[in-house]
Amino acid sequence: MLIFKTVVELQQFLLSYANKTIGFVPTMGALHQGHLSLMAKAIEENDLMVCSIFVNPTQFNNKEDLEKYPRHTDKDLAFIQNAFADNAKLVIFLPDVKEIYPNKIEKSYDFGNLSLVMEAQHRPGHFDGVGMVLERFFDVVQPTRAYFGEKDFQQLAVVRNLVKQLKLPVQIIGCPIVREANGLAMSSRNERLTPEQKEQAANIYKFLQDAKQQAKILSVEEVKNNFISAIKNILALQLEYLEIADGNTLTPITNWEETTYCVAFVAVFVGNVRLIDNVTLYS
Ligand code: AMP
Repeated sequence: MLIFKTVVELQQFLLSYANKTIGFVPTMGALHQGHLSLMAKAIEENDLMVCSIFVNPTQFNNKEDLEKYPRHTDKDLAFIQNAFADNAKLVIFLPDVKEIYPNKIEKSYDFGNLSLVMEAQHRPGHFDGVGMVLERFFDVVQPTRAYFGEKDFQQLAVVRNLVKQLKLPVQIIGCPIVREANGLAMSSRNERLTPEQKEQAANIYKFLQDAKQQAKILSVEEVKNNFISAIKNILALQLEYLEIADGNTLTPITNWEETTYCVAFVAVFVGNVRLIDNVTLYS
C-alpha cells in the first residue's frame, strides 16, 4: 500500500500508469464496509486503485457537522491494510486542504432538477462543494473509472451530470448500499450514534421496506403518510424529508403511473446526526 500526501508526489507516481486503468474511490474517511465494497470493485476492475481520504470542507453547509465529522486516518489505514493485505494495486491519497484548494475557489453548478430537490434543497451549496472537489480530484488522478455508492443516490446522479457537462473521460460506476445486519445503511456518521440510537435508526430501513410493500397497492400519498406516521412513533427519529421520485430524474411523483423506476428517499435526524437512505420501490 502506497500513501501520498501531496499532489506532486501522487502525480509523479501515476506517470508510470499512463497506459493503465485507474479506479478512483473518493471518501471522507471513517471507513466502513460500504467504502470497502467500492474499493474491492475498483481493485477488481482496474490496474490500480486510488482511494482518497479527504474531509471536504466546501461540501458542508453546517459548521458543526464539519467539526464533528469523525476523523481517524490511522485506524482507516489499518482497516484498509487488514482488508486488502499487501495488494500491490493500492494507493491512498491523504491530501490536506491546501493541497486540494491552493487558491480560494467558489463555484456554483447548474445540475438542473438535481440542484433543486432533496439534498440540494436541504443542504444549500452542498453539491457545489461536491462538484469542486471532484473536478479537482479527477484532474489530479485522471481516473479511468470512479466509484460511488448508491447510498448517496442524488450525489451519484450529480456526479454523472458533472462528468457529462464537463465532458470528462471518466466512467462513473454506481455501487449498491451496504447495510448493517439490522438494515441500517452504513455511514461514517453512524459512529456518532449510541447503540440504542443505532437500533432505533434501523427503523428507517424497516419503514422503507414497508413502503416498498405498499407501493402501487396504496396511493403515493398514503404510502408517504404511513411512513411519516411510523417515523413519528419513534421518538428518537425526526424526519427531515421523504420523497418518492423517479429514479432517473429524481422528480417527485404523485402518481405511480408517472414512472417505471421509483425510488423512496429520506433524510432523518437521530439526535443531531443526520442520516440519509433510499430504497427502490420498483423498477
Ligand atoms: P463518504 O466517505 O461518506 O463521502 O462516502 C464515500 C463513498 O462511499 C461515496 O460514494 C458513498 O456513496 C459511498 N458509501 C458510503 N456509505 C456507503 C454504503 N453504506 N454503501 C455503499 N457505498 C457507500
